[in-house]
Amino acid sequence: MYDVAASGAGFAGVTYSAFSGWADRPGDFAPMLEGELTCDIAVVGGGYAGIAAALRLAERGADVVLLESGFCGWGGSSRNAGYLSNALAGDPQLLNMLYARRLPHLIRYADSAARFTEELIGRLAIDCDYEPTGNVIAAVSPGQLRRTRRNAEILRGAGADVEFVEGRDFGLPQTFLGGVFERAGGLLNPGKFALGLREVLLASGVRTYERTTVRAVEPHATGAVVSVPGGRVRAERVILATNAYSRDLAIAPKRMVTPIWTSLVETEPVDPERLAATGWTRRVGIITPHTILENYRPTPRGTVMFGTRRLRTAPGALGVREPDDAVVADLVRGFHERFPSLSDIAPQRAWGGWIAMTSSLLPVAGEAAKNVFYAIGCNGHGLAQSPYLGTLLADRLAGDRMHDDLAAVWRARPRFAPPVLSAPTLHAAWTVDRIADRLHRRRA
Ligand SMILES: Cc1cc2nc3c(=O)[nH]c(=O)nc-3n(C[C@H](O)[C@H](O)[C@H](O)COP(=O)(O)OP(=O)(O)OC[C@H]3O[C@@H](n4cnc5c(N)ncnc54)[C@H](O)[C@@H]3O)c2cc1C
Repeated sequence: MYDVAASGAGFAGVTYSAFSGWADRPGDFAPMLEGELTCDIAVVGGGYAGIAAALRLAERGADVVLLESGFCGWGGSSRNAGYLSNALAGDPQLLNMLYARRLPHLIRYADSAARFTEELIGRLAIDCDYEPTGNVIAAVSPGQLRRTRRNAEILRGAGADVEFVEGRDFGLPQTFLGGVFERAGGLLNPGKFALGLREVLLASGVRTYERTTVRAVEPHATGAVVSVPGGRVRAERVILATNAYSRDLAIAPKRMVTPIWTSLVETEPVDPERLAATGWTRRVGIITPHTILENYRPTPRGTVMFGTRRLRTAPGALGVREPDDAVVADLVRGFHERFPSLSDIAPQRAWGGWIAMTSSLLPVAGEAAKNVFYAIGCNGHGLAQSPYLGTLLADRLAGDRMHDDLAAVWRARPRFAPPVLSAPTLHAAWTVDRIADRLHRRRA
């Protein structure tokens, strides 16, 4: 299932990948679990959250087993756009309306996450092309610009390290008018980051099993039993770090996450002078404040990578998937609108991955059942947040008091509101964005 060597040519000759465009999958795997094991803590899922939790617990003396259905890094962790950001998901005005009192705590959590992950990269000496450039939420219309100005005020009022910037002065491409500059974080190669974490994990004392899908977790009075096709793990406690895939596990709280498929496209290399001539003179990641965001970033390979706009839901099992033509065509259309002088630049590669959306738009951590915990759902913002959340949960299980940042996202009960995202609502959001773009073009 996870042999993804075959990938096909799709829209306009773009090569589609069922894995990530950032890195090749590992040449060999950790063993599959066969037989029975006991341990202190079993971690299910080897993305940023699971690896970070396992490493922290091992550092603190726990006997840890990590079980991963593909290979560590298979999920969103090696596929994402590489924005290490101190932002929460969701429009700040909406968050302020929903969580006025909690917002400063949530902002502190997200800011600490960015700083933690930056520090983790340095501490583990992971070569992932990290550039501490910060990121900009940049408007493409006067209406969006007014909104970003207001958002900058809300965020600063709640303690975020951001400022409002004018596009041209700041070095954004001409079609971006300005927006919220998030000083913390920057850009990296998430494939190198995830596989670098995997290397550290494999060299650590954590017993790691790959191609080992957890089918069930059964809690009992003094622990939990984790079942995989070839065996079982008896653990005192279990961490679910299964993110978008949590829906497939019966033990995960019902309605906790909605898996959403998100796609990325990368161009052929662009002459740096041509890129600078668009006005993009400052190397910084750009995200638009549309209902469904667009993102544009330079890569160390001299290419431009862009994504999101059109999202897909998963009626059935998540499985292995490539981007679809309609989404790639729409993303390329968006790239041409934002970078008209680069309309001859060919898109070369596309891939995608599952993000875990929650109905609160906030990440979630808590206890799913006795001795079974979860750290999940960073709503497409987990590059910084997932390693932090996994580590905070690990510290809690190792006996620390609840950290204030963990408390900010902790769920007292594993109950979740019905999901708001569905294929029709995502299509409606995309349509609203395109109408807004069209109106702006007409007025310009
Ligand atoms: C296209 C895309 C772009 C994104 N861009 C950004 C970005 O720029 N910045 C940002 O902050 N975030 C971004 N994200 C989100 C970010 O990648 C995720 O939030 C983050 O990787 C989540 O990490 P995780 O460890 O929780 O989950 P994952 O990386 O998804 O890991 C979960 C792991 O659990 C394993 N698993 C699941 N079920 C089981 C089971 N039953 N048994 C065993 N193993 C199991 C999976 O195989 C997987 O490896 C993006 C995501 C995508 C897909």
